[in-house]
Amino acid sequence: MPRIGGHRWRVLKQQVIAEEGGICHLCHAPGSDSADHLIPIEFRPDLEFVRENVRAVHHNAWPRCNRTRGSKPVPATTTLRTTRDW
Ligand SMILES: [Zn+2]
Repeated sequence: MPRIGGHRWRVLKQQVIAEEGGICHLCHAPGSDSADHLIPIEFRPDLEFVRENVRAVHHNAWPRCNRTRGSKPVPATTTLRTTRDW
């Protein structure tokens, strides 16, 4: 699995957490401390820094949604809006 990190990722992560008010996209509760790729970059490395593919998530913060999810596909209820016309 590709390694996630670097300055660019940290900046985007903080931006996403701020814009979404820390609301975790998996459990919809506030307090997210990290961000997650809706489509794992394992499958789409080109989406690593695409804002629409990144959502705030609990990582080290309870209930650690991102850690229990791993890199399984996102729920069908989550829609990724990269195909619409802007
Ligand atoms: Zn959560």
